Amino acid sequence: MDEHGEDLEVIVSTIRGAGKRLTTAKRTVAEVLVAAPGHLTADELTRAVQDRQPDVSPSTVYRILEEFEELSIVVHAHLDQHAAVYHLAGTVHGHLTCEECGATFEIPASHFDALDKDLQRTFGFALNRHHTAITGACARCQSLRRQRH
Ligand SMILES: [Zn+2]
Ligand SMILES: [Zn+2]
Ligand SMILES: [Zn+2]
Repeated sequence: MDEHGEDLEVIVSTIRGAGKRLTTAKRTVAEVLVAAPGHLTADELTRAVQDRQPDVSPSTVYRILEEFEELSIVVHAHLDQHAAVYHLAGTVHGHLTCEECGATFEIPASHFDALDKDLQRTFGFALNRHHTAITGACARCQSLRRQRH
């Protein structure tokens, strides 16, 4: 079985294990998430689902995403001012978003270990490493900025 097939089996058994019904629409959303190359908004997910199953409505996709979040199958993140994006919970990582060019970089969540410890110790605060992006300027934009001076 390829990597995608394994991910899909894990999702299917999570749904069944929670005593939820596995509908064709849920399976299709799961297939789309597993095959997704990166971050997809709910609208993009809906379009990809409808490519496979035209009769699935956007509200059905939203409901399925909510259920998948409750079951910790997916997480969403906010990369900029636009719509939230979704990916599988197994691939959680940190996000850096450049405020100038809008590029988003995925970084290992372990980069937040030191900050997480410090915030916990100082403020008793537990960091969520993936929900919102850290914003700033990417290397490319910084060097363009330097060239202008
Ligand atoms: Zn959110
Ligand atoms: Zn991400
Ligand atoms: Zn940039």
